[in-house]
Amino acid sequence: RGYQSVALILGVTGIVGNSLAEILPLSDTPGGPWKVYGVARRSRPDWNEDNPVEYIQCDISDTAETQSKLSKLTDVTHIFYVTWASKPTEEENCEINGLMFRNVLQAVIPIAPNLCHVCLQTGGKHYVGPFELYGQIEAHDPPFTEDLPRLNGPNFYYTLEDVMLEEVAKKEGVTWSVHRPDVIFGFSPYSLMNLIVTMSVYAAICKHEGAPLIFRGSKEAWNCYVIASDADLIAEHEIWACVDPNAQNEAFNIHNGDLFKWKHLWKILAEEFGIEEHGFEEGESNITFAEAMKDKEPVWEEIVKKNQLLPNKLEQVGGWWFADLIFGGPGVVTNLNKSKEHGFLGFRNSKKSFVSWLDKMKAYKVVP
Ligand code: NAD
Repeated sequence: RGYQSVALILGVTGIVGNSLAEILPLSDTPGGPWKVYGVARRSRPDWNEDNPVEYIQCDISDTAETQSKLSKLTDVTHIFYVTWASKPTEEENCEINGLMFRNVLQAVIPIAPNLCHVCLQTGGKHYVGPFELYGQIEAHDPPFTEDLPRLNGPNFYYTLEDVMLEEVAKKEGVTWSVHRPDVIFGFSPYSLMNLIVTMSVYAAICKHEGAPLIFRGSKEAWNCYVIASDADLIAEHEIWACVDPNAQNEAFNIHNGDLFKWKHLWKILAEEFGIEEHGFEEGESNITFAEAMKDKEPVWEEIVKKNQLLPNKLEQVGGWWFADLIFGGPGVVTNLNKSKEHGFLGFRNSKKSFVSWLDKMKAYKVVP
């Protein structure tokens, strides 16, 4: 079968990697027909198996393993870099994430004669600094635009951009794009940061225990306008950047294009799990997710067993640290004009996006 394009997805079991793996092989995807290679560290999970992807298990932080497994992929035309590693400090994040990306680019760029584009996914932390330095680095005035100068201080997103520019410059004709989503709504129980999985696991535990669905976060987060980025929309944005000449060698913000409030989605979450009592409660809401959920592993195991769910451990699907961060203060708001002006007009209704991913989580038996 003749393919027009050949994708290499790094992080194919992640929150956007899984969407790319679903969308790229479809017959009407721009730039297609696409052949797809997908790389992830662990063996392939069942929920990723329906996608027609050549799965490659490879730890890209290992230079020798990456060379040996990826330098065979001579037909790759497009690289989608949708992965990251998390370390305790941002200096370590810069080091490990820079190494992983460089390993991939140095394995593939020299051996793939038809390689034409590299898509790099970073995010809104580009504008506010890393999690560990939240509030400590003075940010620009939001909504953030792509042309703002970098902030002072370490940021692994800056390292990734620098590595990409350096490696891509070694081969003529290879273009690039950077995609900066905000909090992502998507599917993947393997993601390091999946708010939908975390919220639905939390709701399942509250329901099981007959407890109210307390919003654990600040009043400011409960009431303020926020934005989110649907994983399928991000995948469409990345594919658009591969095929539209207007999108080459540029960085773009990407989100759903509407505003919502967490308190509105909280009501939907409660309805989806059949919980009547829910909301922000002075005092009780000060108790973080991490604190409230710290002894719930046995409860979760009971829920998994009773409902015959995928055998995920609570530490895998309960990203309490991430929820505590997201609900701790006001959200990051980025400006979408550049994407639109360059021709990407995709959008999502955030409430519908939220519900559709919750439903997918149930359909794949991640939660009851
Ligand atoms: P993810 O955590 O959902 O998925 C990571 C994927 O990479 C998984 O498939 C995992 O198996 C794979 N992986 C991890 N380490 C690997 C290794 N050493 N070798 C091979 N595969 C490995 O990823 P994500 O959340 O889409 O993150 C990609 C980028 O998007 C990051 O820079 C992240 O900061 C950014 N981002 C994420 C969110 C979010 O809500 N998840 C929001 C904004 C920005």
